[in-house]
Amino acid sequence: MFDLTTQDIKYLPGVGPQRAVTLNKELGIYTLHDLLYYFPYKYVDRSRIYSIREIDGTMPYIQLKGEIRSFELAGEGRQRRLIAHFTDGTGFVDLVWFQGIKFLTGKYKVHQEYIVFGRPTVFNGRINIAHPDVDLVTEVRMDAMGLRPYYNTTEKMKRSFLNSNAIEKLMGTLIQQLHEPLPETLSSEILTEHHLMPLTEALVNIHFPGNADLLRKAQYRLKFEELFYVQLNILRYASDRLRKYRGYIFRRIGDVFNTFYTRNLPFELTGAQKRVLKEIRHDLGSGRQMNRLLQGDVGSGKTLVALMSMLIALDNGYQACMMAPTEILANQHYETIRALLCGMDVQVELLTGSIRGKRREAILQGLASGEVKILIGTHAVIEDTVGFASLGLVVIDEQHRFGVAQRARLWTKNEQPPHVLVMTATPIPRTLAMTLYGDLDVSVIDELPPGRKPIATIHQFDNRRECLYRFVRAQIAEGRQVYIVYPLIKESEKIDLKNLEEGYLHVCEEFPDCRICKVHGKMKPAEKDEQMQLFASGEAQIMVATTVIEVGVNVPNASVMIIENAERFGLSQLHQLRGRVGRGADQSYCILMTGYKLADDTRKRLEIMVRTNDGFEIAEADLKLRGPGDLEGTQQSGVAFDLKIADLARDGQLLQYVREVAQKVVDEDPERKLSKNEILWRQLKVLRKNNVNWAAIS
Ligand code: ADP
Ligand code: MG
Repeated sequence: MFDLTTQDIKYLPGVGPQRAVTLNKELGIYTLHDLLYYFPYKYVDRSRIYSIREIDGTMPYIQLKGEIRSFELAGEGRQRRLIAHFTDGTGFVDLVWFQGIKFLTGKYKVHQEYIVFGRPTVFNGRINIAHPDVDLVTEVRMDAMGLRPYYNTTEKMKRSFLNSNAIEKLMGTLIQQLHEPLPETLSSEILTEHHLMPLTEALVNIHFPGNADLLRKAQYRLKFEELFYVQLNILRYASDRLRKYRGYIFRRIGDVFNTFYTRNLPFELTGAQKRVLKEIRHDLGSGRQMNRLLQGDVGSGKTLVALMSMLIALDNGYQACMMAPTEILANQHYETIRALLCGMDVQVELLTGSIRGKRREAILQGLASGEVKILIGTHAVIEDTVGFASLGLVVIDEQHRFGVAQRARLWTKNEQPPHVLVMTATPIPRTLAMTLYGDLDVSVIDELPPGRKPIATIHQFDNRRECLYRFVRAQIAEGRQVYIVYPLIKESEKIDLKNLEEGYLHVCEEFPDCRICKVHGKMKPAEKDEQMQLFASGEAQIMVATTVIEVGVNVPNASVMIIENAERFGLSQLHQLRGRVGRGADQSYCILMTGYKLADDTRKRLEIMVRTNDGFEIAEADLKLRGPGDLEGTQQSGVAFDLKIADLARDGQLLQYVREVAQKVVDEDPERKLSKNEILWRQLKVLRKNNVNWAAIS
């Protein structure tokens, strides 16, 4: 059979060696198969030309026909733009370019007839189309009416005339060469049951849609398949793991847990904490190895849940360990947990990179003998030299900082893997969680402890700084403490940014009576700890820092979080930073400082921050604004994110549906032996071989 994956792109008529190199380098297209799976990013309805009079600002991409009357260069610096005043006789539209101005000047001429394609926006009664496609009427194939594909290309490609039109032509040639259908990649059972278009038909229609309905069906089929295999991969992995490993069974709730619960627990658990503990207890008693993700917004009380889970392990004769991503955090957990267990006979130890020599030896011995019951630490705890007598439960805090490989190393500590609880305060939208952590069960703490006042978030422009400082002075006078956070930048970059050092000096000048400490990522751990300690103990009133304080640090008396250059931060980062305040009983404030000029996206981010404190809402918004590739944790996750056609932000429902389909396949055919599924398992193998990320999860 004609195997497209072995056909070099350079032999396709119209490509040749030079263009082949460009396609290799710019788009990673090496074979005919790669080209065929390079999908259009949009389609233009070339069957309709709108008139400017009809435009109302709510329209998606449209097509206009007319001429440019004049050009104008406007604005300065980043706002510099080329404007072409375009008319079709029914009205005017401004065509605007912010990039490639040099290249474009002279490219287009006045009084020539053009077809313009783009998305119109209406502002102050003027219609704009930013970065439109502009083609001479004579160059547009008006004969090819209907939906035409548009392909992403790079500047480099355009310069060697490999624009969207050229790709379209190549695609046409390729598809003409397909004399027989390609081998199907889904089983006939799945195709029939879910009414999916056959593969070849879908591929043809994704590039050259017969009509809008066929396009929709082609897209559905290809998205279905893409998400299906991501899920099949994860679920197969989870099922194998379940069959391969048994879990320790923790049946007892004993003295340690009960003593803590009745004597030491300083407050009533929230409803959400109780529910999650129940879920965990159920896992621990089930005979299956627990792999649970605990999601809870900052300040929702995850540490306590983790501790109580560890106590269950202790009651059943096992040790527990808790890993944090930084030394500061490990320290803090250690202090917190020691305080919570005060008066109880449970040996807790701290192990980090800076604990060495005799102290370290003693701890290692205690772990090996089983005397040390709870170990808290950084990733130092997964080093090979650390051995446990009987490790029953591992808690990983702020999971996104640990790669999958690191998680897996934990399992080598025992013959039987310990139960694993991973915790994250970066709420992950459901669809993303299913893909990122699809092999984990998920619990959610969706309730904050009582008595917390919602943090007031305010967006403030730089020129109101005096007013801000008055407010800060007043808060400090009341005994509160203040964080001031600067974006993390390299010294060599942009001088216009106040970096941390400058900021620090400035703050020292403004607040001569205060003690001010400073923390950044480049400091030595000991120095960092010392500075943190100054703030935690209340000796310093102001902490100037980079985002190193983003994770987990807990100083309940701090009530003001000022974020400088807030436009430089992503939504989830802003939310994490805000979570550093609002931990005590006092009203807390988060102040987002920015300059006047803001991009649309930035403005939206800030608006969301001001409007809500709900981490899940923020995470959903973040996913929509940025797309999943940029979300924290996705890079190290070890799960494929180079989805070609499905969009996790939009295709959540399909993902859910497809996951159930994949689950059914795995349940029915755990040994991968049924002949009706042969196609599926073979295709999964092919995908895993070609995709480094996929291979990494097992
Ligand atoms: P996070 O989920 O961000 O890790 P923590 O576990 O640090 O949150 O808890 C935040 C604060 O809330 C801590 O000071 C903790 O003692 C307190 N806390 C936790 N659970 C409760 C509760 N049920 N009632 C009151 N305060 C609680
Ligand atoms: Mg925490």
